[in-house]
Amino acid sequence: MIDIQKIKNKVERHRDAILSKIKRLRREDPFLTTDRALIVEPGSDAAALFGHEQVAIMETRLKDELGEIERALTKIKKGTYGICERCTKRIELARLEVKPSAIYCLKCKEEIEKGKKIK
Ligand SMILES: [Zn+2]
Repeated sequence: MIDIQKIKNKVERHRDAILSKIKRLRREDPFLTTDRALIVEPGSDAAALFGHEQVAIMETRLKDELGEIERALTKIKKGTYGICERCTKRIELARLEVKPSAIYCLKCKEEIEKGKKIK
């Protein structure tokens, strides 16, 4: 059986970890730490731009994960935790153990990932 309280704690801890990662990431963004108005030479901010893009990519990824976590927490509240958002079947217990914030079953998750790659 699933211990919902235990899962909730686990998911909340995961959410806090991601939130602090995003905060840390923002401090690393060169666009936010350097005054861009002072950069006159176009080539000189290439490194900053690269750094900024890396931060942006990572931030998007973390925010996606955060979105899933928030949805998993909503599902816990509603009592629909462990049920796939897409096909409404039960999510495999083994999968929930590895990823307590999962809101899709493995099959749906794979299909969603495939769909993303085509775009
Ligand atoms: Zn599914």
